[in-house]
Amino acid sequence: GTATLVEYLWVEDLGIDHLFGVTPARWSGPWPGRMAEPVAVAFVLLGGLGLLLPVRRWLYLREGFAVGLLAIAMSGLASYGIELAGSNGMPFGRVPLHTTLLLLLATLGWLSATPTLGLTRVATADTLGGALARHLLLPALLLPVVFAFVFELLQSWLGLPETLAFVFMALFSGGAVAGLVWWVANLFDTLERQRRESVLLRYDAGTDILTGLANRRAFGEALAGLLHGQREHDRMFSLLMLDLDRFKAYNDEFGHLAGDQVLRVTGHLLGAALRPSDTAARYGGEEFALLLPDTDETGASEVAARILDAFRGYAWPQCAVTISIGVAQSARGDDAENLIQRADAALYDAKHAGRDRVVTATAVASPEAAPRSGT
Ligand code: GH3
Ligand code: MG
Ligand code: MG
Repeated sequence: GTATLVEYLWVEDLGIDHLFGVTPARWSGPWPGRMAEPVAVAFVLLGGLGLLLPVRRWLYLREGFAVGLLAIAMSGLASYGIELAGSNGMPFGRVPLHTTLLLLLATLGWLSATPTLGLTRVATADTLGGALARHLLLPALLLPVVFAFVFELLQSWLGLPETLAFVFMALFSGGAVAGLVWWVANLFDTLERQRRESVLLRYDAGTDILTGLANRRAFGEALAGLLHGQREHDRMFSLLMLDLDRFKAYNDEFGHLAGDQVLRVTGHLLGAALRPSDTAARYGGEEFALLLPDTDETGASEVAARILDAFRGYAWPQCAVTISIGVAQSARGDDAENLIQRADAALYDAKHAGRDRVVTATAVASPEAAPRSGT
C-alpha cells in the first residue's frame, strides 16, 4: 500500500505494478496492474490498525484508522451504487465491489478483536450507549449509500430533473434522520422510566418503613463496602451498635403504638446526628447500627455522646427514653462478624454499667488503659 502511494505521489514506477507480469493490453487505465489510490490508503490503514492492536496507549490513532477505513469502504459502496444507477466517472469507482466488502469485513474483524476497547467496547456493552451503537450504526453507515443510489436512480432511470431529485434526496434524508431521532427519543424515554422505577424499588428494598432508616440489608451492603475499603485502601471506619434502654418495659407500660413512635423519633434523632456519608440503619427491633467512614473510635465516641445528649434533650411524650451505645473501630483483617462482635460486646458493657452511656471496644479489651467514656 505504501509503495503504491509513493508511486502515485511521486509518479515513480517502483516496478511493483507488473510484478506478476500483467500484460498492459488486457487492462485499461494509465497504470496497468496498480491498485487504486483509495485501496492503497486502505491497505496502509489496515496494516496500521493491525500493528497498533497490541498497543493500548494509541487507542485513538487506531480508532482513527478504523474510521478512515470505514469511510473508504462506504465511499466504495456508494460509488458502486451510483455506477449501478448509470452514472460514470466517480473518483472511487475504481475500487471493485469485492475489495470494498473485504475492506469492510477486515476493519470490523480488527475492531472486534478487542471487544473491551474503544469503539467495540461501547458497541458490545450492555448499556444505553451499546444499544444505540448496535441499532443505529449500521443504518447510519448504510443510509447515505442507499440515498446516493436512489438519488442517481431517480435522475438517470426516471429522467427526473436534478433539482427535483435533490428535493427528494433532502426529504428522504430529513425523514430518515427524524426517524432515527424519534427512535432514540423513545428508547431514552423508556429507559428513563425504568431507571426511575428501579430507583424507587431500590429505595424501598433498602429502607425500613417504620423509621425511614436503612434496613438490615442496606446496612449489610454498606458495611461490606467499608470493609472492602479497609482491606484494599486501609481506610478505617467506625461501627456503632445502639439499643434502646428498657424498651420492653416502655411497650408494656404505654403500648406498642407509643413504642413505635419512639422508634420513629429515634430514626429522626439518629439521622440528624450524622453526616451525609454516614449510614444509620435499623438493625432489628429496637437495635440500631451506625457506620461512620474515616472516623476513629475517638471521633465515633463524640458522635455517640452527641446522640446521648439528643435523647436526653428530646421532649419525650410519656417518659424519658435513653439509649446505650457500643463503639468499635475497624482494624486490618476485620470481617463483618468480628467487627459487629466487638461493637456488641461494648454495647453489652454499656448496658451492664448502667445504660444511657457509650462504651468503646478498646475499653472492653483493656479496661484500665482506656476507661469507659460513659456518663
Ligand atoms: P435493655 O435495656 O436491656 O435493652 O432492655 P430492653 O427491654 O430494651 O431489651 P429487650 O431486648 O428485652 O426488649 C426489646 C423490646 O423491644 C422487645 C419488644 O417489645 C420491643 N420491640 C422490638 N421491636 C419493636 C417494634 O417494632 N415496635 C415496638 N413497639 N416495640 C418493639
Ligand atoms: Mg434489644
Ligand atoms: Mg433494649
